[in-house]
Amino acid sequence: ARRFFVGGNWKMNGNKESLEQLITTLNTASLDDQTEVVCAAPSIYLDFARSLLDPRIGVSAQNCYKVAKGAFTGEISPAMIKDCGADWVILGHSERRHVFGESDELIGQKVAHALESDLGVIACIGEKLEEREAGSTEEVVYAQTQVIAENVTDWEKVVLAYEPVWAIGTGKTATPEQAQEVHEKLRAWFRANVSDDVADSLRIIYGGSVTGANCRELASQGDVDGFLVGGASLKPEFIDIINARQ
Ligand code: 13P
Repeated sequence: ARRFFVGGNWKMNGNKESLEQLITTLNTASLDDQTEVVCAAPSIYLDFARSLLDPRIGVSAQNCYKVAKGAFTGEISPAMIKDCGADWVILGHSERRHVFGESDELIGQKVAHALESDLGVIACIGEKLEEREAGSTEEVVYAQTQVIAENVTDWEKVVLAYEPVWAIGTGKTATPEQAQEVHEKLRAWFRANVSDDVADSLRIIYGGSVTGANCRELASQGDVDGFLVGGASLKPEFIDIINARQ
């Protein structure tokens, strides 16, 4: 069985005061212990988040660079993320792809280096609205997945996040049927292109306007193994999302 995985992507939000409040809320909440929970803090707060969060909650970075160190002003390495006590990094998020222009090739190189550095990777894929409307959702997500797959050595350290770009921060959540359809096709892609074992064990999580109100129906879909949550991860309703399978 695939352990339910819920990531909170705080994006570029919060400050020490508000994050400490949020962390206190999470630390004192009753959380389904069948769910793996990870909070992705802004890099400058990784150490702060790790020092305050209960050890049962993991910490993730939101991005990293593709090499260990050097003259790359403004970047952070997987080694630094680990040094701050975090175990995960989000890579290929749509905001990195579309706001900051990261290519599939760069994302692939980052995935390879993060895994070599023993970080877990939350690898994100997803189509834009015009791509969905043009009927090319499958083609887009398979191509993004292919580049990630070429760079993965150990699938046990990877969670795949399907985040349709049109659903991110828009309040337009994919319907449970739309999410299930893509997740099921992705799992079939893994069966055909990687292995039965990876297809059966890989967690494929959904992201895009997940809320306390819509999480249960999404979580009941057979191929939805958790969520990557933006806006709602900064609110107490994140607890309801963690407990969506209860
Ligand atoms: P929202 O939950 O705010 O739509 O963001 C989703 C997301 O991008 C998570 O990585």
